[in-house]
Amino acid sequence: MTTLEIRDLKVSVDTDTGEKEILRGVDLTINSGETHAIMGPNGSGKSTLAYAIAGHPKYTITGGTITLDGEDVLAMGVDERAKAGLFLAMQYPVEVPGVTVSNFLRTAKTSIDGEAPKLRTWVKDMKGAMELLRMDSSFAERNVNEGFSGGEKKRHEILQMELLQPQIAVLDETDSGLDVDALKIVAEGVNRVKDATGLGVMLITHYTRILRYIKPDHVHVFVAGKVAESGGPELADRLENEGYDRYVQAAAV
Ligand code: ADP
Ligand code: MG
Ligand code: MG
Repeated sequence: MTTLEIRDLKVSVDTDTGEKEILRGVDLTINSGETHAIMGPNGSGKSTLAYAIAGHPKYTITGGTITLDGEDVLAMGVDERAKAGLFLAMQYPVEVPGVTVSNFLRTAKTSIDGEAPKLRTWVKDMKGAMELLRMDSSFAERNVNEGFSGGEKKRHEILQMELLQPQIAVLDETDSGLDVDALKIVAEGVNRVKDATGLGVMLITHYTRILRYIKPDHVHVFVAGKVAESGGPELADRLENEGYDRYVQAAAV
């Protein structure tokens, strides 16, 4: 069992005009095997939360804690966070010129495991994972993110997750830019890793659409830099019908 615990997290971002406070005291606990949907309007700070967990240098932690099984995540470098079992898709560079998907994934796997996977098993594992995500085998020889479509980026993200076998994954807008068929394949991938490894998932999304395919155990409404309400899956249904207006207005008072 692994637990990611976020307590009273406050985060500012560096902007041209100075520091701007975005997260205003976030509390969340995610255990292995649980899927938590974080849902909120644009600009509410959802991606900031993901970046803060990932250790992005642009985001300054001004208060609170993040721990993984009691270990201080905020004291860890980006690599150490991955080694500790956190999967944060955006910690990886947007484009890696001249590095193939295959080499990139093997390097990431080597860094996380502390030793290189045996080449033969690795090739087999990678092929298997790619087939499950219905990716063409030529994808492995393409350069990372160079000319990837939105759908390819998302599949690459899930491919990484399948191969790196993290304890807790933070998936930010995994549904954006996907048509329904691609969305189903990506969701199947997430569900497969969940079932196989007991992965805990923080699924950040603006829309309820992906929740038809990845069933959350807990739903959190995220507004103005904090969790405004938490509930079960029924909360997502209510958001689908009512939208975020009520929460946005309450937060503005
Ligand atoms: P969400 O993912 O919920 O749409 P974000 O975390 O992306 O929200 O953004 C929250 C707020 O922080 C927005 O007002 C956004 O403009 C601001 N913000 C986030 N990142 C930056 C940044 N790197 N520079 C300036 N402003 C930022
Ligand atoms: Mg553990
Ligand atoms: Mg966002």
